[in-house]
Amino acid sequence: STKAGIGSLGSQKNPADWRAKGGAVRIHGISKSFGTLKVLDNIELNLPASSVTAIIGPSGSGKSTLLRAINHLERVDSGFISVDGELVGYTQKGDVLYELKEKDILRRRTDIGMVFQNFNLFPHLTVLENLIEAPIQVRGLSRDEAIAFAHELLARVGLSDKIDAYPRQLSGGQQQRVAIARALALRPKVLLFDEPTSALDPELVGEVLDVIKELARTGTTLVIVTHEIGFAREVADTVVFMEGGHIIETGSPVQVFNDARHPRTRAFLAKVL
Ligand code: ADP
Ligand code: MG
Repeated sequence: STKAGIGSLGSQKNPADWRAKGGAVRIHGISKSFGTLKVLDNIELNLPASSVTAIIGPSGSGKSTLLRAINHLERVDSGFISVDGELVGYTQKGDVLYELKEKDILRRRTDIGMVFQNFNLFPHLTVLENLIEAPIQVRGLSRDEAIAFAHELLARVGLSDKIDAYPRQLSGGQQQRVAIARALALRPKVLLFDEPTSALDPELVGEVLDVIKELARTGTTLVIVTHEIGFAREVADTVVFMEGGHIIETGSPVQVFNDARHPRTRAFLAKVL
């Protein structure tokens, strides 16, 4: 299930060590450039299982690229990411890493759900069809099993009455709640949110944040890029501040929002708070 080797683990002393520790998401020494622009510079981050992490930072700081790297939508130049003890995008033989084949990448990616700013629902499918497509195709559920789970998920996001609607018939907030339900339909171990409320009218933000708050209680590991500082303060275990491809500061919401150590963090918060 491998193609060309992409290099030796080299200075990485004992990769099995950090892989085996059981944290839900381990990000080790990740770097990524687009041309000459270094967008991620040696990122280190450990997210325990069931934790909720909010990533904040100015536009262009690398937040989306980091999220995309976690589910291998973006290939990194160096470093490793593991989710639930499995390397993302690679398999290891001896001390050499091999990139997985597309089909294996796709299969592993189903452990890692992603919710985008612009919902990305299938416009030509009803809400129900949006929710059952991947579980049937990718997870091999029967149609009846997939439908039963879809009902459960729609009840959780408060949209049972919209099961036969098309995305265009829903508000932005409702579409985003369907998108969250669709991500949950694959029973991911980790759920990534990239500015899930940025495209919404202000009056619709609350209903989506409420759904995410509820998820935070269910034990799925959540990583949320957000500008909603009040929400991050309430829901996150850990706040990560990024700027210029670096993690500048990591801490509890109280620590970062009330007593930031780094002047760059304080300058950013002074603008958004
Ligand atoms: P954020 O989500 O924090 O706004 P991004 O991760 O989207 O930041 O982008 C970080 C930097 O990388 C930006 O300067 C952006 O223009 C650049 N970038 C992102 N994706 C690409 C790409 N596919 N090609 C070239 N540059 C990119
Ligand atoms: Mg972004």
